[in-house]
Amino acid sequence: MTDAKLIDGNLFSAKVRESVAARVAEMVEHHKITPGLAVVLVGEDPASQVYVRTKHKRTVEAGMNSFEHKLPADTPEHEVLLLIEALNKDPQVHGILVQLPLPKHIDTQRVIEAISPAKDVDGFHPVNAGRLAAGGDSLVPCTPLGSLLLLKDTLGKLGGLDAVVIGRSNIVGKPMAQLLIKESCTVTVAHSQTRDLPGVVRRADIVIAAVGKAEMVKGDWLKPGCTVIDVGINRIELPDGSRKLVGDVDFASAVKVAGAITPVPGGVGPMTIACLLRNTLVACARLHHLSLKGL
Ligand code: NDP
Repeated sequence: MTDAKLIDGNLFSAKVRESVAARVAEMVEHHKITPGLAVVLVGEDPASQVYVRTKHKRTVEAGMNSFEHKLPADTPEHEVLLLIEALNKDPQVHGILVQLPLPKHIDTQRVIEAISPAKDVDGFHPVNAGRLAAGGDSLVPCTPLGSLLLLKDTLGKLGGLDAVVIGRSNIVGKPMAQLLIKESCTVTVAHSQTRDLPGVVRRADIVIAAVGKAEMVKGDWLKPGCTVIDVGINRIELPDGSRKLVGDVDFASAVKVAGAITPVPGGVGPMTIACLLRNTLVACARLHHLSLKGL
């Protein structure tokens, strides 16, 4: 059996970013509107700082305005809420993202719910989660949206396929399941209490792994020819002491059985930022009642 086709998230995310940049240029030229993304970072978490820097770079590359708000780790919750209130009202800001995790003294859910649903480009606000579940127009969380775009690019129409989503978080698993239901897949959501997970996974044409456990899903769990989207990002230490990034899927065994698979890194990861830019463009268009047909 030949190895699975590699789903190249670097390549595809570059295409998404290019198409967003082209739409941004049209918006600036025809409507004199520049989409703007505000990113709020509280504290000095090193991983969050890297993410925020990359988001800023990509936002500017797409021709959008990037507004960074870096607050000290001990900023009181009410000051974060006041900033969000100001960003909600700012006509230059069309998307607001609060980098998670927040310091422990801040109530993350309260902060998420303070963001205007129209500017909630992470798609975490209960209004957007509810609209996604009800099948309406919402801003969709970036990682599941990016995973769906990769799936559609790989498989075309998804209707009728059996999909298993491993993980039920609000950020990845649940919205991913909702998106697949919308695409007319038959969806199973697995989690830490699922019985016979390998047996459940073996029935699936599409496997989405969003667990946070390094290389947990093995090749012999997979139905031959299935499509695997590995959302996991885990840092493991190798015997020589060096560190390596791996997914939730054991790539070496899975690539022998699957029909197509995302690598880690270079699969879902780059799609997340591309979809953040896409969501900012969508939010901007909706706020200004402009059409984005064909995006
Ligand atoms: P969470 O920790 O919030 O959720 C993990 C889910 O996995 C839970 O639903 C949990 O079940 C389930 N789970 C845990 N152990 C098992 C097990 N042994 N068998 C089956 N299910 C299990 O994680 P996230 O959803 O936030 O993230 C998942 C992964 O995706 C992480 O590796 C994270 O780093 C990565 N990620 C990657 C992104 C990207 O840009 N590529 C963005 C966001 C996340 P239960 O609910 O029962 O506890």
